[in-house]
Amino acid sequence: PPAIRKISEKHDKVFVTGCLEPDTSQPRANATFVVLARNKELDGVLQSLKSVERHFNRWYHYPYVFLNDGEFDEHFKETVRNHTSGPVEFGRVGPDMWGFPDWVDHKVAQEGIAKQGDAAVMYGGLESYHFMCRFYSGFFYNHPLLLKYEWYWRVEPEITYFCDITYDPFLKMIEHNKTYGFTIAVKELRETVPNIFRYASAYKRLNNLTSQGLWEMFVEPKNPVEEKKKEELPDEILKNDPANNAPPNIDPQEMEGETYNMCHFWSNFEIARLSWFRSKEYNDFFEMMDRSGGFWMERWGDAPIHSLAAGALLGVKDIHYFRDVGYRHTTIQHCPANAPSRQLPRTPYLEETTLDEKKRIEEDKYWDNWDEVKENGVGCRCR
Ligand code: GDP
Ligand code: MN
Repeated sequence: PPAIRKISEKHDKVFVTGCLEPDTSQPRANATFVVLARNKELDGVLQSLKSVERHFNRWYHYPYVFLNDGEFDEHFKETVRNHTSGPVEFGRVGPDMWGFPDWVDHKVAQEGIAKQGDAAVMYGGLESYHFMCRFYSGFFYNHPLLLKYEWYWRVEPEITYFCDITYDPFLKMIEHNKTYGFTIAVKELRETVPNIFRYASAYKRLNNLTSQGLWEMFVEPKNPVEEKKKEELPDEILKNDPANNAPPNIDPQEMEGETYNMCHFWSNFEIARLSWFRSKEYNDFFEMMDRSGGFWMERWGDAPIHSLAAGALLGVKDIHYFRDVGYRHTTIQHCPANAPSRQLPRTPYLEETTLDEKKRIEEDKYWDNWDEVKENGVGCRCR
Protein backbone atom coordinates (compact mmCIF):
# COMPACT_ATOMS: atom_id res chain seq x y z
CA PRO A 1 0.00 0.00 0.00
CA PRO A 2 1.37 3.43 -0.87
CA ALA A 3 2.87 5.27 2.09
CA ILE A 4 2.37 8.64 0.42
CA ARG A 5 -0.43 10.66 1.96
CA LYS A 6 -2.11 13.47 0.21
CA ILE A 7 -0.96 16.85 1.50
CA SER A 8 -4.57 17.57 2.26
CA GLU A 9 -4.64 14.94 4.95
CA LYS A 10 -1.89 16.72 6.81
CA HIS A 11 -2.54 20.38 6.22
CA ASP A 12 -5.40 22.77 5.92
CA LYS A 13 -5.72 24.34 2.54
CA VAL A 14 -4.98 27.73 4.01
CA PHE A 15 -1.72 26.38 5.45
CA VAL A 16 -0.50 25.54 1.98
CA THR A 17 -1.89 28.39 -0.07
CA GLY A 18 -2.19 31.20 2.46
CA CYS A 19 -5.32 33.25 2.98
CA LEU A 20 -7.47 33.99 0.01
CA GLU A 21 -6.98 37.31 -1.70
CA PRO A 22 -10.09 39.43 -1.18
CA ASP A 23 -12.27 39.24 -4.25
CA THR A 24 -13.35 42.76 -5.09
CA SER A 25 -13.82 42.19 -8.79
CA GLN A 26 -17.62 42.50 -8.78
CA PRO A 27 -19.53 45.75 -8.27
CA ARG A 28 -20.85 46.27 -4.73
CA ALA A 29 -24.37 45.26 -3.72
CA ASN A 30 -27.00 47.82 -2.71
CA ALA A 31 -26.16 47.34 0.93
CA THR A 32 -25.10 49.06 4.13
CA PHE A 33 -23.97 48.42 7.67
CA VAL A 34 -26.44 49.57 10.30
CA VAL A 35 -25.29 50.63 13.76
CA LEU A 36 -27.73 51.73 16.44
CA ALA A 37 -25.83 53.36 19.26
CA ARG A 38 -25.57 56.13 21.84
CA ASN A 39 -22.78 58.68 22.27
CA LYS A 40 -21.62 57.01 25.46
CA GLU A 41 -20.99 53.79 23.51
CA LEU A 42 -18.27 55.34 21.35
CA ASP A 43 -15.48 53.11 22.70
CA GLY A 44 -17.48 49.96 21.98
CA VAL A 45 -18.41 51.30 18.54
CA LEU A 46 -14.74 51.94 17.76
CA GLN A 47 -13.81 48.41 18.77
CA SER A 48 -16.45 47.12 16.35
CA LEU A 49 -15.45 49.43 13.51
CA LYS A 50 -11.78 48.53 13.77
CA SER A 51 -12.66 44.88 13.57
CA VAL A 52 -15.15 45.22 10.70
CA GLU A 53 -12.73 47.37 8.73
CA ARG A 54 -9.69 45.24 9.38
CA HIS A 55 -11.35 41.96 8.45
CA PHE A 56 -13.66 43.07 5.67
CA ASN A 57 -14.49 46.62 4.84
CA ARG A 58 -11.01 47.96 4.10
CA TRP A 59 -11.39 46.03 0.82
CA TYR A 60 -15.11 46.57 0.16
CA HIS A 61 -15.87 50.08 1.48
CA TYR A 62 -19.54 49.51 2.18
CA PRO A 63 -21.39 52.50 3.65
CA TYR A 64 -22.60 52.80 7.25
CA VAL A 65 -25.82 54.16 8.66
CA PHE A 66 -25.62 55.19 12.31
CA LEU A 67 -28.93 55.55 14.12
CA ASN A 68 -29.77 56.98 17.52
CA ASP A 69 -32.93 58.00 19.35
CA GLY A 70 -30.89 60.97 20.59
CA GLU A 71 -28.54 63.25 18.67
CA PHE A 72 -24.99 62.09 17.91
CA ASP A 73 -22.47 64.66 19.09
CA GLU A 74 -19.68 66.02 16.89
CA HIS A 75 -16.99 64.07 18.71
CA PHE A 76 -18.83 60.79 18.04
CA LYS A 77 -19.36 61.62 14.38
CA GLU A 78 -15.83 62.81 13.78
CA THR A 79 -14.28 59.78 15.48
CA VAL A 80 -16.50 57.40 13.51
CA ARG A 81 -15.61 59.12 10.23
CA ASN A 82 -11.94 58.68 11.05
CA HIS A 83 -12.34 54.92 11.46
CA THR A 84 -14.47 54.01 8.47
CA SER A 85 -13.49 53.43 4.85
CA GLY A 86 -16.99 53.82 3.42
CA PRO A 87 -19.46 56.73 3.36
CA VAL A 88 -21.18 57.36 6.71
CA GLU A 89 -24.61 58.79 7.44
CA PHE A 90 -25.99 59.67 10.87
CA GLY A 91 -29.70 59.62 11.55
CA ARG A 92 -32.17 60.24 14.28
CA VAL A 93 -34.83 57.69 15.18
CA GLY A 94 -38.04 59.64 15.63
CA PRO A 95 -40.85 59.06 18.12
CA ASP A 96 -42.84 57.28 15.38
CA MET A 97 -40.31 54.42 15.64
CA TRP A 98 -39.20 54.74 19.26
CA GLY A 99 -41.09 54.83 22.55
CA PHE A 100 -44.68 53.98 23.42
CA PRO A 101 -47.15 54.12 20.54
CA ASP A 102 -50.36 56.12 21.03
CA TRP A 103 -52.59 53.08 21.28
CA VAL A 104 -50.73 51.75 24.31
CA ASP A 105 -51.77 52.84 27.79
CA HIS A 106 -48.44 54.26 28.95
CA LYS A 107 -49.23 53.73 32.59
CA VAL A 108 -50.06 50.05 32.08
CA ALA A 109 -46.92 49.58 29.98
CA GLN A 110 -44.72 51.33 32.54
CA GLU A 111 -46.15 49.21 35.31
CA GLY A 112 -45.52 46.09 33.24
CA ILE A 113 -41.93 47.15 32.74
CA ALA A 114 -41.46 47.95 36.42
CA LYS A 115 -42.74 44.50 37.33
CA GLN A 116 -40.17 42.88 35.08
CA GLY A 117 -37.53 44.97 36.80
CA ASP A 118 -38.69 43.71 40.19
CA ALA A 119 -38.63 40.15 38.88
CA ALA A 120 -35.02 40.71 37.73
CA VAL A 121 -35.83 39.85 34.12
CA MET A 122 -32.68 40.72 32.17
CA TYR A 123 -33.11 44.32 30.91
CA GLY A 124 -36.82 43.85 31.75
CA GLY A 125 -37.02 46.99 33.87
CA LEU A 126 -35.25 49.18 31.32
CA GLU A 127 -37.77 51.15 29.27
CA SER A 128 -35.17 52.09 26.65
CA TYR A 129 -34.28 48.45 26.07
CA HIS A 130 -37.93 47.69 25.29
CA PHE A 131 -37.94 50.61 22.84
CA MET A 132 -34.78 49.30 21.20
CA CYS A 133 -36.17 45.78 20.80
CA ARG A 134 -39.37 47.08 19.24
CA PHE A 135 -37.44 49.38 16.92
CA TYR A 136 -35.28 46.51 15.65
CA SER A 137 -38.35 44.29 15.36
CA GLY A 138 -40.67 46.47 13.35
CA PHE A 139 -39.14 49.75 12.23
CA PHE A 140 -35.44 49.96 11.40
CA TYR A 141 -35.94 48.79 7.81
CA ASN A 142 -38.26 51.72 7.14
CA HIS A 143 -35.97 54.36 8.55
CA PRO A 144 -35.59 57.10 5.90
CA LEU A 145 -31.80 56.55 5.68
CA LEU A 146 -32.30 52.85 4.95
CA LEU A 147 -34.99 53.11 2.29
CA LYS A 148 -32.47 53.32 -0.55
CA TYR A 149 -30.87 50.00 0.46
CA GLU A 150 -31.90 46.45 -0.31
CA TRP A 151 -29.49 44.68 2.09
CA TYR A 152 -28.16 45.33 5.53
CA TRP A 153 -25.49 44.00 7.88
CA ARG A 154 -26.05 44.75 11.52
CA VAL A 155 -23.17 45.90 13.70
CA GLU A 156 -23.30 46.52 17.44
CA PRO A 157 -20.85 48.11 19.82
CA GLU A 158 -18.36 45.65 21.32
CA ILE A 159 -18.24 43.00 18.66
CA THR A 160 -15.16 41.30 17.22
CA TYR A 161 -14.62 39.55 13.94
CA PHE A 162 -11.59 37.33 14.07
CA CYS A 163 -11.30 35.90 10.57
CA ASP A 164 -10.88 37.79 7.33
CA ILE A 165 -13.97 37.78 5.16
CA THR A 166 -12.51 37.84 1.67
CA TYR A 167 -15.70 37.61 -0.35
CA ASP A 168 -18.77 39.82 -0.49
CA PRO A 169 -21.45 38.14 1.65
CA PHE A 170 -24.21 40.26 0.11
CA LEU A 171 -23.31 39.14 -3.40
CA LYS A 172 -23.09 35.52 -2.23
CA MET A 173 -26.51 35.76 -0.65
CA ILE A 174 -27.93 37.26 -3.83
CA GLU A 175 -26.25 34.61 -5.95
CA HIS A 176 -27.70 31.81 -3.81
CA ASN A 177 -31.06 33.51 -3.40
CA LYS A 178 -30.83 33.77 0.40
CA THR A 179 -32.89 36.13 2.53
CA TYR A 180 -31.52 35.88 6.05
CA GLY A 181 -28.01 35.10 7.30
CA PHE A 182 -26.84 34.29 10.83
CA THR A 183 -23.73 33.00 12.51
CA ILE A 184 -24.92 32.20 16.03
CA ALA A 185 -28.13 30.60 17.28
CA VAL A 186 -28.69 30.35 21.01
CA LYS A 187 -31.49 29.87 23.52
CA GLU A 188 -33.47 32.85 24.76
CA LEU A 189 -34.02 33.55 28.46
CA ARG A 190 -37.43 32.00 29.00
CA GLU A 191 -38.71 34.71 31.34
CA THR A 192 -38.27 37.39 28.66
CA VAL A 193 -40.69 35.71 26.24
CA PRO A 194 -43.24 33.64 28.18
CA ASN A 195 -46.04 34.13 25.64
CA ILE A 196 -44.20 34.96 22.41
CA PHE A 197 -44.66 31.56 20.87
CA ARG A 198 -48.40 31.45 21.42
CA TYR A 199 -48.78 34.53 19.29
CA ALA A 200 -46.29 33.49 16.64
CA SER A 201 -47.90 30.12 16.42
CA ALA A 202 -51.38 31.64 16.24
CA TYR A 203 -50.18 33.95 13.45
CA LYS A 204 -48.96 30.99 11.50
CA ARG A 205 -52.18 29.14 11.97
CA LEU A 206 -54.56 32.06 11.36
CA ASN A 207 -52.78 32.73 8.07
CA ASN A 208 -52.78 29.08 7.04
CA LEU A 209 -49.02 29.05 6.75
CA THR A 210 -47.49 25.65 6.45
CA SER A 211 -43.94 25.13 7.60
CA GLN A 212 -41.29 25.24 4.91
CA GLY A 213 -39.04 23.26 7.19
CA LEU A 214 -37.66 26.07 9.34
CA TRP A 215 -40.48 26.33 11.89
CA GLU A 216 -39.47 23.00 13.42
CA MET A 217 -36.20 24.56 14.52
CA PHE A 218 -38.18 26.45 17.16
CA VAL A 219 -40.50 23.74 18.41
CA GLU A 220 -39.76 21.78 21.55
CA PRO A 221 -40.25 18.09 20.92
CA LYS A 222 -43.07 16.75 23.05
CA ASN A 223 -41.87 14.94 26.12
CA PRO A 224 -44.13 11.89 26.59
CA VAL A 225 -43.48 11.76 30.35
CA GLU A 226 -44.46 15.41 30.89
CA GLU A 227 -47.53 15.03 28.66
CA LYS A 228 -48.66 12.07 30.71
CA LYS A 229 -48.18 14.01 33.95
CA LYS A 230 -50.35 16.84 32.61
CA GLU A 231 -53.12 14.44 31.69
CA GLU A 232 -53.18 13.24 35.24
CA LEU A 233 -53.48 16.71 36.79
CA PRO A 234 -56.94 17.77 37.99
CA ASP A 235 -58.61 20.37 35.71
CA GLU A 236 -58.59 22.97 38.49
CA ILE A 237 -54.80 23.05 38.67
CA LEU A 238 -54.45 23.24 34.91
CA LYS A 239 -56.82 26.20 34.76
CA ASN A 240 -54.84 28.11 37.35
CA ASP A 241 -51.50 27.46 35.73
CA PRO A 242 -50.52 30.73 34.02
CA ALA A 243 -49.02 28.68 31.21
CA ASN A 244 -52.52 27.49 30.38
CA ASN A 245 -54.17 30.89 30.29
CA ALA A 246 -54.47 32.05 26.73
CA PRO A 247 -53.17 35.58 26.17
CA PRO A 248 -55.78 38.24 25.43
CA ASN A 249 -56.96 38.76 21.84
CA ILE A 250 -56.45 35.17 20.85
CA ASP A 251 -59.12 32.56 20.88
CA PRO A 252 -57.70 29.65 22.89
CA GLN A 253 -59.01 27.44 20.10
CA GLU A 254 -56.36 28.97 17.91
CA MET A 255 -53.50 27.91 20.12
CA GLU A 256 -51.31 25.35 18.49
CA GLY A 257 -50.34 23.33 21.50
CA GLU A 258 -46.69 23.50 20.46
CA THR A 259 -44.06 24.89 22.80
CA TYR A 260 -41.10 27.10 22.04
CA ASN A 261 -37.66 25.64 22.58
CA MET A 262 -36.23 29.18 23.00
CA CYS A 263 -33.89 28.80 20.03
CA HIS A 264 -33.27 31.96 18.04
CA PHE A 265 -30.81 33.50 15.62
CA TRP A 266 -28.67 35.93 17.61
CA SER A 267 -29.58 39.08 15.72
CA ASN A 268 -26.71 41.35 16.78
CA PHE A 269 -25.06 39.74 13.75
CA GLU A 270 -27.48 39.67 10.89
CA ILE A 271 -27.14 40.02 7.15
CA ALA A 272 -30.54 40.21 5.55
CA ARG A 273 -32.64 41.31 2.63
CA LEU A 274 -34.57 44.40 3.71
CA SER A 275 -37.41 43.73 1.27
CA TRP A 276 -38.31 40.72 3.37
CA PHE A 277 -38.67 42.90 6.47
CA ARG A 278 -40.64 45.38 4.38
CA SER A 279 -43.00 42.71 3.03
CA LYS A 280 -46.69 42.72 3.92
CA GLU A 281 -46.33 39.29 5.53
CA TYR A 282 -43.52 40.35 7.86
CA ASN A 283 -45.33 43.53 8.82
CA ASP A 284 -48.60 41.71 9.48
CA PHE A 285 -46.61 39.42 11.73
CA PHE A 286 -45.00 42.34 13.55
CA GLU A 287 -48.33 44.15 13.89
CA MET A 288 -50.00 41.16 15.48
CA MET A 289 -47.09 40.60 17.84
CA ASP A 290 -46.97 44.31 18.69
CA ARG A 291 -50.72 44.59 19.37
CA SER A 292 -50.46 41.79 21.92
CA GLY A 293 -48.47 44.15 24.16
CA GLY A 294 -45.59 41.69 24.44
CA PHE A 295 -42.99 44.38 23.85
CA TRP A 296 -44.11 45.99 27.14
CA MET A 297 -45.73 43.33 29.31
CA GLU A 298 -42.89 41.00 28.47
CA ARG A 299 -39.43 41.82 27.17
CA TRP A 300 -39.55 40.38 23.70
CA GLY A 301 -36.25 40.74 21.92
CA ASP A 302 -35.90 41.44 18.22
CA ALA A 303 -33.91 38.22 17.90
CA PRO A 304 -36.79 35.85 18.69
CA ILE A 305 -39.14 38.11 16.68
CA HIS A 306 -36.95 37.92 13.57
CA SER A 307 -36.41 34.22 14.12
CA LEU A 308 -40.05 33.25 14.58
CA ALA A 309 -41.05 35.41 11.62
CA ALA A 310 -38.46 33.54 9.56
CA GLY A 311 -39.82 30.26 10.89
CA ALA A 312 -43.34 31.18 9.86
CA LEU A 313 -42.56 32.83 6.54
CA LEU A 314 -39.29 31.41 5.20
CA GLY A 315 -37.83 28.02 4.47
CA VAL A 316 -34.50 26.45 5.28
CA LYS A 317 -33.37 27.23 1.75
CA ASP A 318 -33.79 30.98 2.42
CA ILE A 319 -31.45 30.99 5.40
CA HIS A 320 -27.69 31.12 5.24
CA TYR A 321 -25.59 29.96 8.15
CA PHE A 322 -22.31 31.92 7.98
CA ARG A 323 -20.30 29.06 9.42
CA ASP A 324 -17.08 30.65 8.18
CA VAL A 325 -17.55 33.95 10.02
CA GLY A 326 -15.55 34.19 13.26
CA TYR A 327 -17.61 36.46 15.46
CA ARG A 328 -17.84 37.38 19.09
CA HIS A 329 -20.17 39.63 21.09
CA THR A 330 -19.59 39.88 24.84
CA THR A 331 -19.51 36.29 26.11
CA ILE A 332 -20.80 34.36 23.12
CA GLN A 333 -18.78 33.60 20.06
CA HIS A 334 -18.75 31.51 16.95
CA CYS A 335 -15.42 30.04 15.90
CA PRO A 336 -15.54 28.52 12.45
CA ALA A 337 -13.70 25.50 13.82
CA ASN A 338 -16.63 24.82 16.12
CA ALA A 339 -19.21 24.78 13.38
CA PRO A 340 -20.95 21.42 13.29
CA SER A 341 -20.24 21.09 9.58
CA ARG A 342 -16.51 21.19 10.33
CA GLN A 343 -16.89 18.10 12.43
CA LEU A 344 -17.92 16.22 9.32
CA PRO A 345 -15.04 14.73 7.35
CA ARG A 346 -12.83 17.39 5.81
CA THR A 347 -12.95 17.94 2.10
CA PRO A 348 -9.47 17.23 0.72
CA TYR A 349 -8.35 20.37 -0.99
CA LEU A 350 -6.89 18.51 -3.94
CA GLU A 351 -10.44 17.77 -4.99
CA GLU A 352 -11.39 21.38 -4.89
CA THR A 353 -13.20 21.34 -8.20
CA THR A 354 -16.05 19.72 -6.34
CA LEU A 355 -15.76 21.89 -3.24
CA ASP A 356 -18.94 23.83 -3.93
CA GLU A 357 -20.94 20.70 -4.35
CA LYS A 358 -19.51 19.22 -1.18
CA LYS A 359 -20.19 22.40 0.72
CA ARG A 360 -23.78 22.26 -0.41
CA ILE A 361 -24.09 18.67 0.75
CA GLU A 362 -22.56 19.58 4.11
CA GLU A 363 -24.98 22.43 4.43
CA ASP A 364 -27.92 20.17 3.74
CA LYS A 365 -26.65 17.73 6.31
CA TYR A 366 -26.26 20.54 8.78
CA TRP A 367 -29.74 21.81 8.30
CA ASP A 368 -31.12 18.31 8.64
CA ASN A 369 -29.55 18.07 12.03
CA TRP A 370 -32.14 20.00 14.02
CA ASP A 371 -31.46 18.04 17.16
CA GLU A 372 -27.97 19.36 17.44
CA VAL A 373 -29.10 22.94 16.89
CA LYS A 374 -31.88 22.58 19.41
CA GLU A 375 -29.63 21.00 21.97
CA ASN A 376 -26.54 23.16 21.71
CA GLY A 377 -27.35 26.08 19.52
CA VAL A 378 -24.63 26.97 17.08
CA GLY A 379 -21.36 28.47 18.16
CA CYS A 380 -19.95 28.19 21.60
CA ARG A 381 -19.87 30.04 24.84
CA CYS A 382 -16.47 31.40 25.78
CA ARG A 383 -15.05 30.10 28.98
P1 GDP B 1 -27.37 43.47 24.39
O1 GDP B 1 -26.42 43.19 23.27
O2 GDP B 1 -28.63 42.68 24.27
O3 GDP B 1 -26.75 43.39 25.72
O4 GDP B 1 -27.91 44.96 24.22
P2 GDP B 1 -27.15 46.31 23.84
O5 GDP B 1 -27.07 47.20 25.03
O6 GDP B 1 -25.87 46.02 23.12
O7 GDP B 1 -28.19 46.96 22.82
C1 GDP B 1 -28.40 46.44 21.53
C2 GDP B 1 -28.17 47.53 20.49
O8 GDP B 1 -29.07 48.59 20.68
C3 GDP B 1 -26.79 48.15 20.56
O9 GDP B 1 -26.43 48.50 19.24
C4 GDP B 1 -27.00 49.38 21.41
O10 GDP B 1 -26.07 50.38 21.09
C5 GDP B 1 -28.39 49.78 20.99
N1 GDP B 1 -29.17 50.43 22.05
C6 GDP B 1 -29.68 49.87 23.17
N2 GDP B 1 -30.40 50.76 23.88
C7 GDP B 1 -30.34 51.92 23.19
C8 GDP B 1 -30.88 53.25 23.41
O11 GDP B 1 -31.57 53.52 24.37
N3 GDP B 1 -30.59 54.19 22.46
C9 GDP B 1 -29.82 53.91 21.36
N4 GDP B 1 -29.58 54.89 20.49
N5 GDP B 1 -29.31 52.70 21.14
C10 GDP B 1 -29.56 51.71 22.03
MN1 MN C 1 -24.96 44.31 22.43
